[in-house]
Amino acid sequence: MRYAFGTRYDTAESLGFPGAYDVRQMRADNVIIADGKYHEADAIVTNQPGLPIFVKAADCVPILLYDPIANCVAAIHSGWQGTALNIVAKTIATLSEVYGSMPDNLQAFIGPAICGDCYEVGDQVITAVTDTLNDKVAAIVPGKPKNIDLKSAVKQQLVECGVKQITVHPDCTRADPDKYWSHRYSVANGIERGGNNNISIICL
Ligand SMILES: [Zn+2]
Repeated sequence: MRYAFGTRYDTAESLGFPGAYDVRQMRADNVIIADGKYHEADAIVTNQPGLPIFVKAADCVPILLYDPIANCVAAIHSGWQGTALNIVAKTIATLSEVYGSMPDNLQAFIGPAICGDCYEVGDQVITAVTDTLNDKVAAIVPGKPKNIDLKSAVKQQLVECGVKQITVHPDCTRADPDKYWSHRYSVANGIERGGNNNISIICL
C-alpha cells in the first residue's frame, strides 16, 4: 500500500500515481466501488491492486483507510456536509459488507484540513456535526463556541466505529496558503481558486 497527501502543487501523476480512478464529488455521502460504473461519489473503495483512488479537498477533511488483512482501501472526502452525514461510518460499513473488513484492522490517515481555530460556522453546522457523535464535545473548540473542529469530529467518528489506528496530519489548509489550496482563504482574499484542490491518494 502507498498513500500520499498532496499540496496545491501536486497531481496524482506528480505524486507517482498514474492512472488514478477519477470521480465527481457531490458533497454528499455516496460510497462507490471503483469498478467504472459510477462516477459521482465522496468516498471510493477498492481491493484492486495498482488502482489509485483519490479525493480532492480545499479545507474539507480527506481520509484514507487501509485494511492490510482484508486487503482493501478507501478514500473519503468529508466536508461539514459529509461529516454531518457520517460518510466515514458509511464507508467503513461498505468495506465490511463488500470486502469483509474489520474496523479493528483498519489504519486511518486523516489529511490536511482546516483546523478548529480557523473554522467558524453556523449553529446548524455545529449541531449537525455533533449530532453524529456519542461524545458530543469531541469536536468543540475550547473558547470558540462558533467554531467546529472537523478533523476531531472525523477522528471521533472513526473511534466510535471501532477504528484504533488513527494518524492525524497536523497541517491546517487555511493557515498555510503557500502550501495548500484553502476555500476559506481564497474567499477571504478574493482569489479565484477555480477547480483547484489538494489531492489525497491511496493505492494497494
Ligand atoms: Zn487553522
